[in-house]
Amino acid sequence: LASGEAYQVAHLGPLEQIEQYPLVLPDREVRGKVFIKDLIGTTGSEISINKLPAGGAVPFSHAHKQNEEVYLFVKGQGQMAIDEDVFTVKEGSIVRLAPRAVRCLRNNGQEDLYFIVIQTKEGSLGQHTFDDGIRLEHEINW
Ligand code: ZN
Repeated sequence: LASGEAYQVAHLGPLEQIEQYPLVLPDREVRGKVFIKDLIGTTGSEISINKLPAGGAVPFSHAHKQNEEVYLFVKGQGQMAIDEDVFTVKEGSIVRLAPRAVRCLRNNGQEDLYFIVIQTKEGSLGQHTFDDGIRLEHEINW
């Protein structure tokens, strides 16, 4: 972990070993899911990094109260169930879910499934890409 006046950095190490960071809940322990809000202090999003082993499935369906979710699939293959639809997701698949969408995920592939989930408050994005960036003249001392 490192931080400066205006940034925080965390190093999780290889994603293959992400189980080393258990998510401790009141009634159980989840392995293969790391939420980063408390790691780096995000204030507008919650992001999780996930590894679902081959043959594994999220043990419940869920929806959200106010946050939309974006799933970015990085490696592997699985199936997503959203409301009454089921479809294949794999490396490069990007899925956006409204808060009310009832969702579940399973890994029906032969290798581990890696994905990142970004939660943000639905409708909160005021500006984006080049509308929010500010180009600066700033010398970098690499
Ligand atoms: Zn969720």
